[in-house]
Amino acid sequence: MNAIDLHTHSTYSDGTKSPTELIELAHKVSLQAIAITDHDTTAGIPEAMAHGQKMGVEVVSGVEVSADLDGIPMHILGYNFVTEDSLLQKRLRVLQDARHQRNLQIFAKLRELGFPITIDEVPPTPGQVGRPHIARLLISKGIVKNMDQAFTRFLRRGSSAYVQCYRMSAAETITMIHEAGGLAFLAHPTANDRQMKYVPQLLTDLKKLGLDGLELHYPTHTSKTVKTLRRLGDKLGLLYSGGSDFHGDGKPHINIGSNPKGQPTPYELLTAIKNQR
Ligand code: AMP
Ligand code: ZN
Ligand code: FE
Ligand code: FE
Repeated sequence: MNAIDLHTHSTYSDGTKSPTELIELAHKVSLQAIAITDHDTTAGIPEAMAHGQKMGVEVVSGVEVSADLDGIPMHILGYNFVTEDSLLQKRLRVLQDARHQRNLQIFAKLRELGFPITIDEVPPTPGQVGRPHIARLLISKGIVKNMDQAFTRFLRRGSSAYVQCYRMSAAETITMIHEAGGLAFLAHPTANDRQMKYVPQLLTDLKKLGLDGLELHYPTHTSKTVKTLRRLGDKLGLLYSGGSDFHGDGKPHINIGSNPKGQPTPYELLTAIKNQR
């Protein structure tokens, strides 16, 4: 089967592999296409496209945006948009600025908690600083032992240095992606709802806002999950995507293109995405 991976993160957000390294890894496991879906940024895409062309790995533009629908948090994936679209870039810059302000507030809270620590101590990165970077700094300073402890003690919702980041509404996010010529997909639909109690209503509501598809294949999805999601998606006329959410060493148990509980993502899904517009 011609496998693809439409959900990967690079060093331009909180992955530990550069776009070039992602292409090398994709080539090694014979993936036919990948999307780099960094949080709030498309900055890694040109490098991936250039190296993909060299290696024979197709690269489709991608991005992952945190959004909100009446208080329900979610991640929305954008695919196959025009990366250089100026309105898209302007809107992403708003999110990047909000993220930076959020990071500054997290550091202020950490100092209030008695840790002399500043954002300048985060090792230089080509892209967006996220909570995983802050977690790694806390580890390197010996404040916590590991990522889990960093999130549990300080960084996750409800912990002592948690600061909520500004999110666009789901409607604004879907519109932003459409206006750049792309398609909008709900990422890991069961992440906040393992029992899928609210997923049917959420998908119905998002479809009304213009949602194009859902992420069908994902490492946590069993064949039963896939079956249920396919039933919902078919009913609503949604397209499907799939990916590993590869973060490199940030999620060491996840390999690019891998889907331990289910099928790899087939190339046919990308064909359907490309045929849509
Ligand atoms: P941010 O976008 O800066 O808010 O950071 C969110 C990222 O942190 C997610 O995409 C995950 O990669 C990572 N993350 C969230 N919760 C945890 C956790 N409990 N342990 C490790 N990483 C996490
Ligand atoms: Zn991430
Ligand atoms: Fe996500
Ligand atoms: Fe992701």
